[in-house]
Amino acid sequence: MTNYAMKIKNLTKKYGDFTAVKNLSLDIEKGEIFGLLGPNGAGKSTTIRTCLGLLSKTEGEIEILGLDSHKDAIEIRKRTGYLPGEFGLLDGISVYTYLKYLLRLSSVKSDEKLKDLAKRLDLDLKRKTNELSKGNKQKVGVVQALMADQEFIILDEPTGGLDPLMQQIFYEILREEKEAGKTVFMSSHVLAEVETVCNRVAIIKEAELILNEHISTLQDMTGKVLEVEFRHKVDPSAFEIEGVTDIEVDDRKIRMTVTKDIDQVVKRVADHRVINMNLSTYSLEKLFLRYYSNGGVVENEKEGVAIGGGVK
Ligand code: ADP
Ligand code: MG
Repeated sequence: MTNYAMKIKNLTKKYGDFTAVKNLSLDIEKGEIFGLLGPNGAGKSTTIRTCLGLLSKTEGEIEILGLDSHKDAIEIRKRTGYLPGEFGLLDGISVYTYLKYLLRLSSVKSDEKLKDLAKRLDLDLKRKTNELSKGNKQKVGVVQALMADQEFIILDEPTGGLDPLMQQIFYEILREEKEAGKTVFMSSHVLAEVETVCNRVAIIKEAELILNEHISTLQDMTGKVLEVEFRHKVDPSAFEIEGVTDIEVDDRKIRMTVTKDIDQVVKRVADHRVINMNLSTYSLEKLFLRYYSNGGVVENEKEGVAIGGGVK
């Protein structure tokens, strides 16, 4: 038995002369929620569609659930729930009729999960498919990807069009799927989403993989942002110690990034009267933006160490 839900090895996909995915290798472990993150046009949908055998590949090998992505595409689709990035619905029928029709195609008899998902996502099953708003249409897509209770779920930008409350409910549903032993592979262009719901992230930019790391490792690597509001102005040089970077002063507030021993920093903070304090992992956003803008080399200015450049 393999421990991987999917193994992509040296995948290249060209549209004519244009390379949309270049020499991509990724392993998705069973039971994880894996986020494929990248800006628009990075090659996320192409990767997903190639993996599912919906597009031919130019080079490389893809194994899903121990099967060959192209030779065994039909068997794989039976065991995989999929939400496409763009999809159409059959017009003029109720949402329920549409979903039930799809459910029957996957030979699942019970519509219990379909109904439960629709209820949680506040999707009216009686509405006609051609009357749906963008958000409600997206909910139909989410329900259809999950309702047959398959072991591997592939979602292409699943939260597009969902309002923030629905996004939260959706994340909760994904976590439950993970707890039930499912594997989720989802694409997104929103870091906060991937950080909230995924345990591992790969970033692709212009067809190439530039990072593949556990979220917790990234958070450790990038450090935490500490913001302290003091009663009186404090000399920021007190915090110029090892592992502290990006010190910013705004009147009585000091904000800094802490990448090492937080204990020392807290002790220095405690030399002064504190009014308020906040510790966050916001700096992952910074790391991400730098990855997006300069292709993967992140310099830690103070120490001159390149962090996170490792492509695995
Ligand atoms: P993402 O999903 O990350 O936004 P895509 O995989 O849709 O990116 O697209 C990657 C690149 O491939 C883009 O530059 C896009 O314009 C191009 N592309 C996508 N589909 C086709 C196609 N059918 N023919 C030619 N180029 C395409
Ligand atoms: Mg896409």
